[in-house]
Amino acid sequence: MSTGTHYEVLARKYRPQNFSELAGQEHVSRTLQNAIDSGRVAHAFLFTGARGVGKTSTARIMAKTLNCERGVTHEPCNICPQCIEITKGTSTDVFEIDGASNNGVDDVRDLRENIRYLPSHSRYRIIIIDEVHMLSTNAFNALLKTLEEPPEHVKFIFATTEPHKLPITILSRCQRFDFKRVTLPKIIARLREIAGKESVTISDTSLALIARKGDGSMRDSLTAFDQVLAFCGNSVSDEDVATLLGAIDRRLLAEISAAVFAGDTQTVLAGVKQVDLVGYNMRQFCQELIEHFRNLLVIRSVKKPEEILDLAAAELEELHKQLLHISALDIQRRLTLFIKAESEMAYASFPRLIVEMVLLKAALLAPLVPIQELIEKIKSLETAAVHTPSLPWEAVRVVPAPAPQPGEAPSSPTRPSHPAHDVAPTPAQTAGHTDWGRFVAYVNERERLLGSVLEHGSPVKQETGLIEIGFPAGSYYLTAALEAEFIAEVQVLARVFTGAETVIRVKAIEAGFADAPLSLAEKKKNDAEQLLEDLKREVENHPVVKEAERVFGSTVTDVRNY
Ligand SMILES: [Zn+2]
Repeated sequence: MSTGTHYEVLARKYRPQNFSELAGQEHVSRTLQNAIDSGRVAHAFLFTGARGVGKTSTARIMAKTLNCERGVTHEPCNICPQCIEITKGTSTDVFEIDGASNNGVDDVRDLRENIRYLPSHSRYRIIIIDEVHMLSTNAFNALLKTLEEPPEHVKFIFATTEPHKLPITILSRCQRFDFKRVTLPKIIARLREIAGKESVTISDTSLALIARKGDGSMRDSLTAFDQVLAFCGNSVSDEDVATLLGAIDRRLLAEISAAVFAGDTQTVLAGVKQVDLVGYNMRQFCQELIEHFRNLLVIRSVKKPEEILDLAAAELEELHKQLLHISALDIQRRLTLFIKAESEMAYASFPRLIVEMVLLKAALLAPLVPIQELIEKIKSLETAAVHTPSLPWEAVRVVPAPAPQPGEAPSSPTRPSHPAHDVAPTPAQTAGHTDWGRFVAYVNERERLLGSVLEHGSPVKQETGLIEIGFPAGSYYLTAALEAEFIAEVQVLARVFTGAETVIRVKAIEAGFADAPLSLAEKKKNDAEQLLEDLKREVENHPVVKEAERVFGSTVTDVRNY
Protein backbone atom coordinates (compact mmCIF):
# COMPACT_ATOMS: atom_id res chain seq x y z
CA MET A 1 0.00 0.00 0.00
CA SER A 2 2.80 2.44 0.77
CA THR A 3 4.39 1.61 -2.56
CA GLY A 4 1.62 3.28 -4.53
CA THR A 5 1.81 6.90 -5.56
CA HIS A 6 -1.46 7.69 -3.84
CA TYR A 7 -2.12 6.67 -0.30
CA GLU A 8 -5.56 7.39 1.04
CA VAL A 9 -5.48 7.77 4.79
CA LEU A 10 -7.38 5.07 6.65
CA ALA A 11 -9.75 7.50 8.36
CA ARG A 12 -11.01 8.63 4.95
CA LYS A 13 -10.82 5.26 3.23
CA TYR A 14 -12.78 3.56 5.97
CA ARG A 15 -15.12 6.40 6.89
CA PRO A 16 -18.45 4.76 7.83
CA GLN A 17 -20.94 5.07 4.98
CA ASN A 18 -24.04 3.89 6.78
CA PHE A 19 -25.40 3.63 10.32
CA SER A 20 -24.42 0.01 10.80
CA GLU A 21 -20.74 0.88 10.25
CA LEU A 22 -20.79 3.59 12.87
CA ALA A 23 -18.81 2.06 15.75
CA GLY A 24 -19.62 2.93 19.32
CA GLN A 25 -22.56 5.29 18.64
CA GLU A 26 -25.35 2.75 18.49
CA HIS A 27 -27.57 4.86 20.74
CA VAL A 28 -27.42 7.73 18.21
CA SER A 29 -27.94 5.51 15.17
CA ARG A 30 -30.94 3.80 16.72
CA THR A 31 -32.70 7.06 17.64
CA LEU A 32 -32.05 8.64 14.26
CA GLN A 33 -33.23 5.54 12.41
CA ASN A 34 -36.37 5.35 14.53
CA ALA A 35 -37.09 9.00 13.72
CA ILE A 36 -36.63 8.32 10.01
CA ASP A 37 -38.80 5.18 10.10
CA SER A 38 -41.60 7.01 11.88
CA GLY A 39 -41.36 10.07 9.64
CA ARG A 40 -40.66 12.39 12.58
CA VAL A 41 -37.36 13.91 11.55
CA ALA A 42 -36.55 17.15 13.35
CA HIS A 43 -35.44 20.11 11.29
CA ALA A 44 -32.32 20.80 13.33
CA PHE A 45 -29.88 18.39 14.96
CA LEU A 46 -26.98 19.02 17.27
CA PHE A 47 -24.25 16.38 17.44
CA THR A 48 -21.92 16.83 20.40
CA GLY A 49 -18.90 14.84 21.55
CA ALA A 50 -15.11 14.58 21.45
CA ARG A 51 -13.16 14.83 18.21
CA GLY A 52 -13.04 11.86 15.91
CA VAL A 53 -15.98 9.93 17.34
CA GLY A 54 -18.15 10.07 14.20
CA LYS A 55 -20.16 13.31 14.35
CA THR A 56 -19.44 14.49 10.79
CA SER A 57 -19.67 10.97 9.43
CA THR A 58 -23.10 10.63 11.02
CA ALA A 59 -24.15 14.00 9.57
CA ARG A 60 -23.25 12.79 6.07
CA ILE A 61 -24.99 9.44 6.55
CA MET A 62 -28.06 11.32 7.77
CA ALA A 63 -27.90 13.63 4.72
CA LYS A 64 -27.68 10.65 2.39
CA THR A 65 -30.54 8.91 4.15
CA LEU A 66 -32.76 11.99 3.72
CA ASN A 67 -31.84 12.59 0.08
CA CYS A 68 -31.32 9.03 -1.22
CA GLU A 69 -33.12 8.48 -4.51
CA ARG A 70 -34.30 5.08 -3.32
CA GLY A 71 -36.46 6.85 -0.75
CA VAL A 72 -36.05 7.84 2.87
CA THR A 73 -35.18 4.54 4.56
CA HIS A 74 -33.06 3.90 7.58
CA GLU A 75 -29.89 3.21 5.60
CA PRO A 76 -28.69 5.10 2.51
CA CYS A 77 -28.24 2.99 -0.65
CA ASN A 78 -24.80 4.52 -1.30
CA ILE A 79 -25.09 3.81 -5.05
CA CYS A 80 -27.56 6.40 -6.35
CA PRO A 81 -26.17 9.71 -7.71
CA GLN A 82 -27.36 11.64 -4.64
CA CYS A 83 -25.62 9.26 -2.21
CA ILE A 84 -22.44 9.22 -4.29
CA GLU A 85 -22.33 13.02 -4.55
CA ILE A 86 -22.78 13.44 -0.82
CA THR A 87 -20.03 10.88 -0.15
CA LYS A 88 -17.72 12.80 -2.50
CA GLY A 89 -18.78 16.16 -1.05
CA THR A 90 -20.04 17.46 -4.40
CA SER A 91 -23.81 17.51 -3.81
CA THR A 92 -25.33 20.89 -4.70
CA ASP A 93 -27.99 20.46 -2.01
CA VAL A 94 -25.78 19.53 0.91
CA PHE A 95 -23.63 22.33 2.28
CA GLU A 96 -20.78 21.52 4.60
CA ILE A 97 -19.57 24.59 6.41
CA ASP A 98 -16.63 24.84 8.78
CA GLY A 99 -17.78 27.05 11.64
CA ALA A 100 -14.19 27.93 12.45
CA SER A 101 -13.49 29.65 9.11
CA ASN A 102 -17.00 30.79 8.09
CA ASN A 103 -18.00 32.33 11.35
CA GLY A 104 -19.11 35.82 10.38
CA VAL A 105 -22.56 37.26 9.98
CA ASP A 106 -22.03 37.59 6.23
CA ASP A 107 -21.46 33.89 5.91
CA VAL A 108 -24.74 33.19 7.66
CA ARG A 109 -26.52 35.82 5.55
CA ASP A 110 -25.23 34.02 2.42
CA LEU A 111 -26.50 30.80 3.88
CA ARG A 112 -29.94 32.25 4.49
CA GLU A 113 -30.09 33.50 0.92
CA ASN A 114 -29.07 30.08 -0.22
CA ILE A 115 -31.74 28.11 1.59
CA ARG A 116 -34.57 30.23 0.28
CA TYR A 117 -34.36 28.21 -2.92
CA LEU A 118 -35.80 24.77 -3.25
CA PRO A 119 -33.37 21.88 -3.57
CA SER A 120 -32.25 21.33 -7.14
CA HIS A 121 -32.45 17.53 -7.39
CA SER A 122 -33.20 16.31 -3.89
CA ARG A 123 -35.80 16.31 -1.19
CA TYR A 124 -33.94 18.63 1.18
CA ARG A 125 -31.31 21.31 1.32
CA ILE A 126 -29.12 20.13 4.16
CA ILE A 127 -26.78 22.46 6.01
CA ILE A 128 -24.01 20.81 8.01
CA ILE A 129 -22.06 23.23 10.21
CA ASP A 130 -19.02 21.72 11.86
CA GLU A 131 -17.56 23.34 15.00
CA VAL A 132 -20.69 25.43 15.19
CA HIS A 133 -19.63 26.94 18.55
CA MET A 134 -17.07 29.02 16.63
CA LEU A 135 -19.75 31.19 15.02
CA SER A 136 -19.82 34.82 16.14
CA THR A 137 -22.70 36.14 18.26
CA ASN A 138 -24.08 38.07 15.28
CA ALA A 139 -23.86 34.99 13.13
CA PHE A 140 -25.79 33.05 15.76
CA ASN A 141 -28.48 35.73 15.80
CA ALA A 142 -28.78 35.60 12.04
CA LEU A 143 -28.96 31.80 12.18
CA LEU A 144 -31.58 31.93 14.88
CA LYS A 145 -34.07 33.71 12.62
CA THR A 146 -33.88 30.80 10.20
CA LEU A 147 -34.14 28.24 12.95
CA GLU A 148 -37.26 29.90 14.32
CA GLU A 149 -39.13 29.59 11.04
CA PRO A 150 -37.36 26.95 9.04
CA PRO A 151 -38.54 26.29 5.48
CA GLU A 152 -39.98 22.79 5.02
CA HIS A 153 -37.23 21.79 2.61
CA VAL A 154 -34.31 22.63 4.92
CA LYS A 155 -32.55 20.51 7.55
CA PHE A 156 -29.74 21.70 9.79
CA ILE A 157 -27.10 19.45 11.32
CA PHE A 158 -24.70 21.12 13.73
CA ALA A 159 -21.63 19.44 15.18
CA THR A 160 -19.54 20.64 18.10
CA THR A 161 -16.98 19.52 20.64
CA GLU A 162 -18.05 22.34 22.97
CA PRO A 163 -21.85 22.53 23.28
CA HIS A 164 -21.60 24.73 26.40
CA LYS A 165 -20.41 27.56 24.15
CA LEU A 166 -23.68 27.57 22.21
CA PRO A 167 -26.39 30.10 23.06
CA ILE A 168 -29.38 28.56 24.80
CA THR A 169 -31.63 29.91 22.05
CA ILE A 170 -29.86 27.68 19.54
CA LEU A 171 -29.63 24.68 21.88
CA SER A 172 -33.35 24.79 22.58
CA ARG A 173 -34.21 24.58 18.88
CA CYS A 174 -32.14 21.49 18.14
CA GLN A 175 -32.59 17.82 18.79
CA ARG A 176 -29.40 16.97 20.64
CA PHE A 177 -27.31 13.79 20.36
CA ASP A 178 -24.32 13.20 22.62
CA PHE A 179 -21.68 11.06 20.97
CA LYS A 180 -19.62 8.87 23.28
CA ARG A 181 -15.91 8.22 23.27
CA VAL A 182 -15.50 4.93 21.43
CA THR A 183 -14.55 2.10 23.81
CA LEU A 184 -11.24 0.35 23.41
CA PRO A 185 -12.68 -3.06 22.43
CA LYS A 186 -14.77 -1.40 19.70
CA ILE A 187 -11.79 0.49 18.30
CA ILE A 188 -9.71 -2.69 18.41
CA ALA A 189 -12.42 -4.62 16.59
CA ARG A 190 -12.56 -1.96 13.87
CA LEU A 191 -8.75 -1.87 13.55
CA ARG A 192 -8.64 -5.65 13.26
CA GLU A 193 -11.25 -5.54 10.52
CA ILE A 194 -9.27 -2.91 8.63
CA ALA A 195 -6.00 -4.82 9.14
CA GLY A 196 -7.71 -7.81 7.51
CA LYS A 197 -8.84 -5.75 4.53
CA GLU A 198 -5.39 -4.23 4.15
CA SER A 199 -3.68 -7.66 4.52
CA VAL A 200 -1.64 -6.46 7.45
CA THR A 201 -0.17 -8.94 9.95
CA ILE A 202 -0.43 -7.43 13.42
CA SER A 203 -0.97 -8.77 16.96
CA ASP A 204 -3.84 -7.89 19.28
CA THR A 205 -1.27 -6.39 21.64
CA SER A 206 -0.21 -3.92 18.97
CA LEU A 207 -3.79 -3.14 17.99
CA ALA A 208 -4.57 -2.40 21.64
CA LEU A 209 -1.55 -0.09 21.81
CA ILE A 210 -2.70 1.79 18.71
CA ALA A 211 -6.28 1.98 19.93
CA ARG A 212 -5.15 3.30 23.29
CA LYS A 213 -3.19 6.03 21.52
CA GLY A 214 -6.47 7.21 20.01
CA ASP A 215 -7.90 7.79 23.49
CA GLY A 216 -11.51 7.09 22.51
CA SER A 217 -11.29 8.77 19.12
CA MET A 218 -11.71 6.47 16.14
CA ARG A 219 -10.11 9.02 13.83
CA ASP A 220 -7.04 9.47 16.04
CA SER A 221 -6.69 5.69 16.35
CA LEU A 222 -6.78 5.35 12.56
CA THR A 223 -4.21 8.14 12.21
CA ALA A 224 -1.93 6.26 14.65
CA PHE A 225 -2.51 3.11 12.57
CA ASP A 226 -1.51 5.05 9.41
CA GLN A 227 1.69 6.04 11.14
CA VAL A 228 2.47 2.45 12.11
CA LEU A 229 1.77 1.12 8.62
CA ALA A 230 3.91 3.81 7.02
CA PHE A 231 6.81 2.70 9.21
CA CYS A 232 6.35 -1.06 9.35
CA GLY A 233 4.67 -1.99 6.08
CA ASN A 234 2.42 -5.02 6.12
CA SER A 235 4.16 -6.94 8.85
CA VAL A 236 3.99 -5.15 12.17
CA SER A 237 6.03 -6.14 15.23
CA ASP A 238 5.02 -5.29 18.80
CA GLU A 239 8.42 -3.73 19.51
CA ASP A 240 8.13 -1.39 16.52
CA VAL A 241 4.66 -0.27 17.55
CA ALA A 242 5.77 0.37 21.13
CA THR A 243 8.79 2.39 19.98
CA LEU A 244 6.89 4.27 17.31
CA LEU A 245 3.98 5.27 19.50
CA GLY A 246 6.25 6.08 22.42
CA ALA A 247 4.32 3.64 24.52
CA ILE A 248 5.52 1.24 27.15
CA ASP A 249 4.95 -2.32 26.13
CA ARG A 250 2.06 -3.50 28.33
CA ARG A 251 3.83 -6.80 28.88
CA LEU A 252 6.74 -4.96 30.44
CA LEU A 253 4.35 -3.17 32.80
CA ALA A 254 2.70 -6.47 33.69
CA GLU A 255 6.12 -8.06 34.24
CA ILE A 256 7.25 -5.25 36.53
CA SER A 257 4.04 -5.30 38.56
CA ALA A 258 4.22 -9.09 38.92
CA ALA A 259 7.79 -8.70 40.16
CA VAL A 260 6.65 -6.02 42.63
CA PHE A 261 4.11 -8.41 44.13
CA ALA A 262 6.62 -11.25 44.17
CA GLY A 263 9.19 -9.06 45.92
CA ASP A 264 11.57 -9.80 43.03
CA THR A 265 13.75 -6.68 43.18
CA GLN A 266 16.13 -7.95 40.50
CA THR A 267 13.38 -8.10 37.86
CA VAL A 268 11.93 -4.78 39.02
CA LEU A 269 15.18 -2.88 38.49
CA ALA A 270 15.91 -4.72 35.23
CA GLY A 271 12.50 -3.51 34.03
CA VAL A 272 13.29 0.10 34.88
CA LYS A 273 16.58 -0.23 33.03
CA GLN A 274 14.76 -1.49 29.96
CA VAL A 275 12.32 1.43 30.10
CA ASP A 276 15.23 3.84 30.36
CA LEU A 277 17.09 2.19 27.48
CA VAL A 278 14.29 2.90 25.01
CA GLY A 279 14.46 6.53 26.09
CA TYR A 280 11.05 6.57 27.70
CA ASN A 281 10.16 9.51 29.88
CA MET A 282 10.37 8.35 33.51
CA ARG A 283 7.52 10.49 34.74
CA GLN A 284 5.27 9.19 31.99
CA PHE A 285 6.35 5.69 32.94
CA CYS A 286 5.34 6.41 36.52
CA GLN A 287 1.96 7.63 35.26
CA GLU A 288 1.52 4.40 33.35
CA LEU A 289 2.40 2.46 36.49
CA ILE A 290 -0.33 4.39 38.29
CA GLU A 291 -2.84 3.59 35.57
CA HIS A 292 -1.80 -0.04 35.58
CA PHE A 293 -2.17 -0.40 39.36
CA ARG A 294 -5.46 1.46 39.21
CA ASN A 295 -6.65 -1.13 36.67
CA LEU A 296 -5.49 -3.92 38.99
CA LEU A 297 -7.33 -2.34 41.90
CA VAL A 298 -10.56 -2.06 39.94
CA ILE A 299 -10.27 -5.66 38.74
CA ARG A 300 -9.73 -6.81 42.33
CA SER A 301 -12.53 -4.66 43.74
CA VAL A 302 -15.55 -4.99 41.46
CA LYS A 303 -17.50 -7.85 39.92
CA LYS A 304 -17.63 -6.52 36.37
CA PRO A 305 -14.38 -4.58 35.75
CA GLU A 306 -14.97 -4.70 31.99
CA GLU A 307 -17.77 -2.18 32.46
CA ILE A 308 -15.44 0.29 34.13
CA LEU A 309 -12.07 -0.26 32.55
CA ASP A 310 -11.04 0.50 28.99
CA LEU A 311 -9.15 -2.73 28.51
CA ALA A 312 -9.13 -5.38 25.81
CA ALA A 313 -10.61 -8.72 26.89
CA ALA A 314 -7.26 -10.50 26.58
CA GLU A 315 -5.53 -7.90 28.76
CA LEU A 316 -8.25 -8.15 31.36
CA GLU A 317 -7.86 -11.89 31.55
CA GLU A 318 -4.09 -11.61 31.83
CA LEU A 319 -4.34 -9.14 34.72
CA HIS A 320 -6.92 -11.33 36.43
CA LYS A 321 -4.43 -14.19 36.51
CA GLN A 322 -1.77 -11.98 38.02
CA LEU A 323 -4.07 -11.00 40.86
CA LEU A 324 -5.17 -14.37 42.15
CA HIS A 325 -3.28 -14.05 45.42
CA ILE A 326 -3.12 -10.29 45.84
CA SER A 327 -5.52 -8.36 48.06
CA ALA A 328 -7.08 -5.05 47.06
CA LEU A 329 -5.48 -3.52 50.12
CA ASP A 330 -2.00 -4.50 48.98
CA ILE A 331 -2.62 -3.03 45.54
CA GLN A 332 -3.94 0.17 47.05
CA ARG A 333 -0.91 0.65 49.29
CA ARG A 334 1.38 0.46 46.28
CA LEU A 335 -0.80 2.71 44.18
CA THR A 336 -0.55 5.34 46.92
CA LEU A 337 3.25 5.09 46.82
CA PHE A 338 3.33 5.63 43.05
CA ILE A 339 0.98 8.60 43.16
CA LYS A 340 3.18 10.27 45.75
CA ALA A 341 6.34 9.53 43.74
CA GLU A 342 4.79 10.89 40.56
CA SER A 343 4.08 14.25 42.15
CA GLU A 344 7.66 14.39 43.44
CA MET A 345 9.00 13.81 39.94
CA ALA A 346 7.88 17.13 38.48
CA TYR A 347 10.98 18.90 39.77
CA ALA A 348 13.27 15.94 40.30
CA SER A 349 16.81 15.93 38.92
CA PHE A 350 17.00 12.14 39.02
CA PRO A 351 13.61 10.83 37.90
CA ARG A 352 14.93 7.33 37.27
CA LEU A 353 16.22 7.15 40.82
CA ILE A 354 12.81 8.10 42.18
CA VAL A 355 11.13 5.42 40.08
CA GLU A 356 13.64 2.83 41.22
CA MET A 357 13.26 3.79 44.86
CA VAL A 358 9.49 3.70 44.81
CA LEU A 359 9.39 0.37 42.99
CA LEU A 360 11.84 -1.15 45.46
CA LYS A 361 9.76 0.14 48.33
CA ALA A 362 6.63 -1.31 46.71
CA ALA A 363 8.36 -4.65 46.14
CA LEU A 364 9.52 -4.89 49.74
CA LEU A 365 6.22 -4.03 51.41
CA ALA A 366 5.15 -6.78 53.79
CA PRO A 367 1.77 -8.15 52.79
CA LEU A 368 -1.08 -7.16 55.05
CA VAL A 369 -3.23 -10.00 56.26
CA PRO A 370 -6.81 -8.78 56.38
CA ILE A 371 -8.41 -9.40 59.79
CA GLN A 372 -11.14 -11.46 58.12
CA GLU A 373 -8.52 -13.80 56.74
CA LEU A 374 -7.00 -14.25 60.20
CA ILE A 375 -10.41 -15.07 61.59
CA GLU A 376 -10.99 -17.64 58.85
CA LYS A 377 -7.63 -19.21 59.70
CA ILE A 378 -8.54 -19.46 63.36
CA LYS A 379 -11.90 -20.99 62.53
CA SER A 380 -10.33 -23.58 60.30
CA LEU A 381 -7.84 -24.43 63.04
CA GLU A 382 -10.64 -24.83 65.54
CA THR A 383 -12.42 -27.19 63.23
CA ALA A 384 -9.23 -29.07 62.56
CA ALA A 385 -8.66 -29.52 66.29
CA VAL A 386 -11.91 -31.44 66.56
CA HIS A 387 -12.14 -33.18 63.23
CA THR A 388 -8.57 -33.69 62.23
CA PRO A 389 -8.41 -37.19 60.82
CA SER A 390 -4.73 -37.53 61.64
CA LEU A 391 -5.31 -37.22 65.38
CA PRO A 392 -4.64 -40.69 66.67
CA TRP A 393 -6.59 -42.13 69.51
CA GLU A 394 -3.44 -42.59 71.55
CA ALA A 395 -2.22 -39.12 70.81
CA VAL A 396 -4.75 -37.27 72.85
CA ARG A 397 -2.65 -37.06 75.98
CA VAL A 398 -0.71 -33.85 75.78
CA VAL A 399 2.84 -33.86 77.05
CA PRO A 400 5.16 -30.89 77.07
CA ALA A 401 6.58 -30.34 73.60
CA PRO A 402 10.32 -30.97 73.43
CA ALA A 403 12.37 -27.78 73.42
CA PRO A 404 13.44 -26.87 69.89
CA GLN A 405 16.93 -28.05 69.07
CA PRO A 406 19.46 -25.39 68.18
CA GLY A 407 18.93 -24.38 64.56
CA GLU A 408 15.47 -25.79 64.51
CA ALA A 409 12.87 -23.19 63.67
CA PRO A 410 9.98 -22.90 66.08
CA SER A 411 6.73 -23.86 64.47
CA SER A 412 4.82 -21.04 62.80
CA PRO A 413 2.23 -19.53 65.12
CA THR A 414 -0.50 -19.36 62.51
CA ARG A 415 -0.02 -22.86 61.23
CA PRO A 416 -1.23 -25.80 63.28
CA SER A 417 1.67 -27.95 64.28
CA HIS A 418 1.14 -31.58 63.56
CA PRO A 419 -0.30 -33.32 66.62
CA ALA A 420 2.53 -35.79 66.55
CA HIS A 421 4.88 -33.00 67.61
CA ASP A 422 2.88 -32.27 70.72
CA VAL A 423 2.23 -35.76 71.92
CA ALA A 424 4.22 -38.81 72.69
CA PRO A 425 2.26 -42.03 72.60
CA THR A 426 3.25 -44.61 75.23
CA PRO A 427 4.52 -47.93 73.90
CA ALA A 428 1.40 -49.73 75.02
CA GLN A 429 -0.76 -47.28 73.13
CA THR A 430 1.10 -47.46 69.85
CA ALA A 431 -0.57 -50.82 69.29
CA GLY A 432 -3.99 -48.99 69.29
CA HIS A 433 -6.59 -49.72 66.74
CA THR A 434 -8.86 -47.05 66.46
CA ASP A 435 -8.72 -43.33 66.21
CA TRP A 436 -10.52 -41.34 68.92
CA GLY A 437 -10.72 -38.09 67.00
CA ARG A 438 -12.01 -39.80 63.92
CA PHE A 439 -14.45 -41.84 65.94
CA VAL A 440 -15.92 -38.75 67.60
CA ALA A 441 -16.13 -37.04 64.20
CA TYR A 442 -17.83 -40.16 62.84
CA VAL A 443 -20.38 -40.10 65.68
CA ASN A 444 -20.84 -36.36 65.24
CA GLU A 445 -21.78 -36.80 61.61
CA ARG A 446 -24.46 -39.34 62.47
CA GLU A 447 -25.71 -38.44 65.93
CA ARG A 448 -24.79 -34.88 66.73
CA LEU A 449 -26.15 -35.17 70.28
CA LEU A 450 -24.02 -38.23 71.12
CA GLY A 451 -21.00 -36.62 69.50
CA SER A 452 -21.34 -33.45 71.53
CA VAL A 453 -21.22 -35.52 74.72
CA LEU A 454 -18.29 -37.64 73.50
CA GLU A 455 -16.29 -34.48 72.79
CA HIS A 456 -16.12 -33.97 76.54
CA GLY A 457 -14.99 -37.48 77.27
CA SER A 458 -11.43 -38.76 77.65
CA PRO A 459 -10.48 -42.15 76.19
CA VAL A 460 -8.96 -43.47 79.42
CA LYS A 461 -8.66 -47.07 78.36
CA GLN A 462 -8.90 -48.89 75.08
CA GLU A 463 -8.33 -52.53 74.30
CA THR A 464 -9.60 -54.75 71.58
CA GLY A 465 -13.35 -54.84 72.05
CA LEU A 466 -13.36 -52.21 74.84
CA ILE A 467 -13.41 -48.43 75.04
CA GLU A 468 -13.47 -46.84 78.47
CA ILE A 469 -14.46 -43.18 78.46
CA GLY A 470 -14.01 -40.91 81.43
CA PHE A 471 -16.07 -37.79 82.11
CA PRO A 472 -15.49 -35.18 84.82
CA ALA A 473 -17.16 -36.29 88.05
CA GLY A 474 -20.37 -34.41 88.72
CA SER A 475 -20.59 -33.02 85.19
CA TYR A 476 -23.67 -32.97 83.01
CA TYR A 477 -21.73 -35.01 80.44
CA LEU A 478 -21.12 -37.83 82.92
CA THR A 479 -24.83 -38.01 83.74
CA ALA A 480 -25.73 -38.04 80.04
CA ALA A 481 -23.13 -40.68 79.20
CA LEU A 482 -24.22 -42.98 81.98
CA GLU A 483 -27.68 -43.34 80.38
CA ALA A 484 -28.08 -46.90 79.14
CA GLU A 485 -29.48 -45.62 75.88
CA PHE A 486 -26.37 -43.46 75.29
CA ILE A 487 -24.05 -46.39 75.91
CA ALA A 488 -26.09 -48.69 73.70
CA GLU A 489 -26.14 -46.25 70.81
CA VAL A 490 -22.43 -45.48 71.04
CA GLN A 491 -21.72 -49.23 71.14
CA VAL A 492 -23.62 -49.70 67.90
CA LEU A 493 -21.68 -46.89 66.24
CA ALA A 494 -18.35 -48.20 67.66
CA ARG A 495 -19.05 -51.64 66.24
CA VAL A 496 -19.64 -50.21 62.79
CA PHE A 497 -16.66 -47.89 63.07
CA THR A 498 -14.14 -50.51 64.30
CA GLY A 499 -15.67 -53.48 62.53
CA ALA A 500 -15.74 -55.48 65.80
CA GLU A 501 -18.01 -55.88 68.81
CA THR A 502 -16.97 -53.11 71.19
CA VAL A 503 -18.02 -52.58 74.77
CA ILE A 504 -18.37 -48.97 75.86
CA ARG A 505 -17.70 -48.31 79.52
CA VAL A 506 -18.27 -44.92 81.10
CA LYS A 507 -16.54 -43.81 84.30
CA ALA A 508 -16.11 -40.68 86.37
CA ILE A 509 -12.82 -38.84 86.46
CA GLU A 510 -12.16 -37.13 89.76
CA ALA A 511 -10.81 -33.61 89.62
CA GLY A 512 -7.03 -33.61 89.49
CA PHE A 513 -6.85 -37.07 87.99
CA ALA A 514 -3.82 -36.15 85.93
CA ASP A 515 -3.46 -39.41 84.04
CA ALA A 516 -6.65 -38.96 82.02
CA PRO A 517 -6.04 -37.86 78.47
CA LEU A 518 -7.57 -34.55 77.48
CA SER A 519 -11.01 -34.66 76.01
CA LEU A 520 -11.42 -33.20 72.53
CA ALA A 521 -13.35 -30.29 74.04
CA GLU A 522 -10.48 -29.55 76.43
CA LYS A 523 -7.99 -29.86 73.66
CA LYS A 524 -10.03 -27.53 71.51
CA LYS A 525 -10.16 -24.98 74.33
CA ASN A 526 -6.43 -25.29 74.91
CA ASP A 527 -5.74 -24.92 71.21
CA ALA A 528 -7.97 -21.87 70.95
CA GLU A 529 -6.20 -20.25 73.90
CA GLN A 530 -2.83 -21.12 72.44
CA LEU A 531 -3.94 -19.72 69.10
CA LEU A 532 -5.07 -16.47 70.66
CA GLU A 533 -1.73 -16.20 72.42
CA ASP A 534 0.07 -16.79 69.14
CA LEU A 535 -2.18 -14.34 67.37
CA LYS A 536 -1.49 -11.69 70.02
CA ARG A 537 2.21 -12.22 69.62
CA GLU A 538 1.93 -12.03 65.84
CA VAL A 539 -0.17 -8.89 65.89
CA GLU A 540 2.13 -7.19 68.37
CA ASN A 541 5.19 -7.99 66.29
CA HIS A 542 3.65 -7.12 62.93
CA PRO A 543 5.56 -4.27 61.22
CA VAL A 544 2.34 -2.41 60.43
CA VAL A 545 1.16 -2.54 64.04
CA LYS A 546 4.60 -1.45 65.19
CA GLU A 547 4.47 1.43 62.73
CA ALA A 548 0.98 2.33 63.95
CA GLU A 549 2.24 2.33 67.54
CA ARG A 550 5.11 4.58 66.52
CA VAL A 551 2.90 7.00 64.54
CA PHE A 552 0.13 7.25 67.11
CA GLY A 553 2.37 6.82 70.16
CA SER A 554 0.10 4.03 71.36
CA THR A 555 0.38 0.41 72.44
CA VAL A 556 -1.71 -2.65 71.78
CA THR A 557 -3.75 -3.45 74.90
CA ASP A 558 -6.04 -6.15 73.63
CA VAL A 559 -6.32 -8.53 70.72
CA ARG A 560 -9.66 -10.17 70.17
CA ASN A 561 -10.73 -13.04 68.05
CA TYR A 562 -14.13 -12.17 66.62
ZN1 LIG B 1 -29.03 6.48 -2.40
